[in-house]
Amino acid sequence: MHGTKILEEADRLMTVCNSCRYCEGLCAVFPAMEMRRSFSDGDLNYLANLCHACGACYTDCQFSPPHEFNVNVPKTFAIARAESYAAYAWPGICSGVFARNGLAITLIAALSVAAFIFGFAAFNDRQVLFGVHTGPGAFYKLMPHKAMAALFGAAFLYAILALVMGVRAFWRDIGEPIGMLADRGSLWQAIKDASGLRYLDGGGAGCVNEDERPSDLRKIYHHFTFYGFLLCFASTAVATLYHYLFAREAPYPWWDLPVVLGTLGGIGLLVGPAGLLAERGKRDPALVDEKRTGMDVAFILMLFLTSLTGIALLLWRDTPAMGPLLALHLGVVFALFITMPYGKFVHGIYRYAALVRYARERRMVGHGVQSSFD
Ligand code: SF4
Ligand code: SF4
Repeated sequence: MHGTKILEEADRLMTVCNSCRYCEGLCAVFPAMEMRRSFSDGDLNYLANLCHACGACYTDCQFSPPHEFNVNVPKTFAIARAESYAAYAWPGICSGVFARNGLAITLIAALSVAAFIFGFAAFNDRQVLFGVHTGPGAFYKLMPHKAMAALFGAAFLYAILALVMGVRAFWRDIGEPIGMLADRGSLWQAIKDASGLRYLDGGGAGCVNEDERPSDLRKIYHHFTFYGFLLCFASTAVATLYHYLFAREAPYPWWDLPVVLGTLGGIGLLVGPAGLLAERGKRDPALVDEKRTGMDVAFILMLFLTSLTGIALLLWRDTPAMGPLLALHLGVVFALFITMPYGKFVHGIYRYAALVRYARERRMVGHGVQSSFD
């Protein structure tokens, strides 16, 4: 007996697949499945989060619909994954945000943007709000640096705490000791697998679309998004060091490191999310968990808007539009931070943790201790 209906279905499918094993070369899920004879809730959540949703095992399967076995691993795991995000959410009271995620994220983003616009209008007179401010410290004429650092620092630390608690819950559920996270070999292997999206290629052929023609585009747009996000994060980190170590205030000239990193990252966060949205429209509906469309789209749009408003601010920062654009950008970024633990962002975190466990299992099998997984 499992805790939910979708885990019952996942157990049924894994039992069929464990007898068949036709797909064992496609990704990490099937080799991990083969190390088990039976599946606990935690095992199934682990396998669901290890799945990269390439769709190959659906098109390759001789038991997929209309066969009476009705085997659809990608969709079943997509639903199980989404339910696991809500189950691991911290604090538990926030798990409801996953229920109508698209609506919740839209409302939070709208409120956040409205609060920044209202705050800027309330604390600045018209000349300052629509004035032209240039050179170091220009942004802080509209919002003091201390207030900005306190607000965004608190939101960022809260998001990190909530994400860490979520991973802790996931790790406990899949039955791994917390100390396992100190296994450096497995951590490094998982970094390599995640940074190359090793298992988002359908065993080498690519992701499957509605026309059943495999393509690498989803993987490519995912790379744009992931590395774009990392570059934007690096830009913010370098700007923070500039401020506190060298007393150099933003905004910085276009050739300076924070701007170069932020611009490259911003381009990645325009191209990647736009491409992912387009590719999402081409996916075979049989593979997609339609109930979570809002969650996927809301996260992609939040990343796109973060970049769009950031680039608009860069382009028009020396004009009277700087004040309203800064309010808009800060509103979107603040909403992105506080919703990170309660939206699609968590898929990257749990998938990485699942890859760490998979790397460890492979290492243990390599050392002849497979029986511990039976
Ligand atoms: S998905 Fe289908 S073909 Fe692949 S292992 Fe499972 S039952 Fe076999
Ligand atoms: S959808 Fe792709 S990643 Fe997921 S189990 Fe099937 S082959 Fe593996």
